[in-house]
Amino acid sequence: MKVLLHEMSWSEAKQYFAKNDIAILPVGSNEQHGPANPLGTDHLIAKSIAEETAKRTSVLCLQVIPFGVSSHHKQFWGTIFISPNTFGEYVKEACLSLNYYGIRKIVVVNGHGGNLAALTNLARELREEGIFVSIFQWWVATARLLPDLFTAEERRHAGAEETSFNLALHPNLVNMTEVLNEQPRRHILQIDGMTLPLNTVDETGSGVYGKQSTVSAKKGKRVFKSVVKELVEHVKLLKSTKIDDLMQKPKV
Ligand SMILES: [Zn+2]
Repeated sequence: MKVLLHEMSWSEAKQYFAKNDIAILPVGSNEQHGPANPLGTDHLIAKSIAEETAKRTSVLCLQVIPFGVSSHHKQFWGTIFISPNTFGEYVKEACLSLNYYGIRKIVVVNGHGGNLAALTNLARELREEGIFVSIFQWWVATARLLPDLFTAEERRHAGAEETSFNLALHPNLVNMTEVLNEQPRRHILQIDGMTLPLNTVDETGSGVYGKQSTVSAKKGKRVFKSVVKELVEHVKLLKSTKIDDLMQKPKV
């Protein structure tokens, strides 16, 4: 059975929608990840997790939305930056299209932390309209599932964990001769508890935060396996949950 929407004909899609109320939507970004990693890192990873999960659960998977909220990386060449509002509306309208065909449950596989605020807003808005959107972020899952696999310094943007994921999925896209470590600069105004409107270029020269040189394809494969396993569990549970049980509760 086909699970990728873009591979189906409209009549095949109709058959899926007639029997199912759940779909998976991967979203990511096209932004710098240091000189060793491809710009597509975040959307390529989200796509791979989403498609593998879809195959294992027989749930429909959409094409990955490749551009996200990335203006903080824009000084590094090739970064495509969409405003949070436009991004949120675009993803929301993709969800509403699914809803037109009867989808009420949508699992968003988010590959880029900068998208989370916009995604959380739209998930809340859509719940008001009878659609339940859950959001999965793989690096949050691995911090709990595989706490000892990487250190905190390896778990930052473009660090060894993310680079290992790339190496496991697309070894030809990681330039191992450009792998590096960089200790980000602390802004003079940065104190604990302070949020500043800084860009990546304010803090790093390469775009890499922390330690990247310990990259390992073997560890990347473990990460992929464990996050897919986790997401499969969620999708199965969501699939079997009644939509009415996921809707907003009435006033107390
Ligand atoms: Zn990333």
